[in-house]
Amino acid sequence: MATHKILLLPGDGIGPEVAAEVSKVLAWFTRAGIAQFETETDLVGGAAIDAHGVPLSEAAMDRAKAADAVLFGAVGGPKWAGVGYAKRPEAGLLRLRKDLGLFANLRPAICYPALAEASALKRELVEGLDIVIVRELTGGVYFGEPKEIVTLEDGQKRAVDTQVYTTGEIERIAAVAFDLARKRRNKVASAEKHNVMKTGVLWKETVTRLHAEQYADVGLEHVLADNCAMQLVRNPKQYDVLVTDNLFGDILSDVAAMLTGSLGMLPSASLGAVENGTRRALYEPVHGSAPDIAGQNLANPIAMIGSLAMALRYSFGLLEAADQLESAITRTLASGTRTRDIAGPGTNAVGTTEMGDAIVRELQAQAG
Ligand code: NAD
Repeated sequence: MATHKILLLPGDGIGPEVAAEVSKVLAWFTRAGIAQFETETDLVGGAAIDAHGVPLSEAAMDRAKAADAVLFGAVGGPKWAGVGYAKRPEAGLLRLRKDLGLFANLRPAICYPALAEASALKRELVEGLDIVIVRELTGGVYFGEPKEIVTLEDGQKRAVDTQVYTTGEIERIAAVAFDLARKRRNKVASAEKHNVMKTGVLWKETVTRLHAEQYADVGLEHVLADNCAMQLVRNPKQYDVLVTDNLFGDILSDVAAMLTGSLGMLPSASLGAVENGTRRALYEPVHGSAPDIAGQNLANPIAMIGSLAMALRYSFGLLEAADQLESAITRTLASGTRTRDIAGPGTNAVGTTEMGDAIVRELQAQAG
């Protein structure tokens, strides 16, 4: 049996609490003889600043590069509010994304039937929702140059951000979306604004060409990003995989996130290029370190455990184990087990550790 190398970076606030629940799940898979993991743990964010003076040590960066996948908790908190910009806790995460070349951000929006009431939309619109937003993460308007604020001769100021994409950047993110769709319901929607943006014209042309050349078996539709935002709240279940640029992806993935109820439920994956048959990858919950509830056994560990399910699927090729884990989460929720963030009024809530234990019990029950 192959051994999968994991670097666990729990981080700050609720990060270590939810990471501890992931460790329980990893231990269960090992005990059950389903998979074998070699897990190293290191510091990131505020915890690394306290220990080493930097949000990510060189040793931790080297371990991240050597791992098959990084599992990341969350970073930040009021304790480090005064740290300089370059050394703030979040800089540790940005360094990991940059140095691992993580250009594709995958955010599933899954609405568990048991939680449909928690969505801002009507139950029939979201129940059974299962879509993935694939966002380009390292290009576009957040990084394009020039990026500046200059003072004009008349005293006004002028701010410039530049949206830039090359065919290579578009092709590689579109390929991630098409490959993913083939493992799901085989449909991709590509969102841009070719009606008003040159990058949109090139995006649409490039996705269309790649589709014709390599992915003609996958369904493809093009949608204007503004219409896509509307469709996501009108009829989100029409989508399977949605691919888009960095800026539109930032916004559309937050819209999709809210369809599912709580921040504590949302996993994510950030993937790099395939090199020598392996793909660099980092998996993390969408939420932050939640200082308001840290240390109180109140955090929902499902976003973090769901991030492990993504690692099993996308980094380790353990598709059956990923299905088992996702189904254990669904069944735990269906049994009425809830952390405080997803418990309705008058419902008894369990703590972080009890939710983790309940999911492990479901895994065991499913295994017979
Ligand atoms: P947050 O995501 O930490 O919290 C927002 C709200 O959601 C809080 O009320 C929190 O209690 C709740 N929440 C978040 N995760 C939860 C969970 N698993 N279970 C139950 N409730 C949960 O966002 P914030 O408050 O804006 O930021 C707090 C800190 O986290 C800041 O320092 C911020 O910079 C940092 N942050 C880090 C990341 C990251 O590490 N990737 C992402 C976002 C924010």
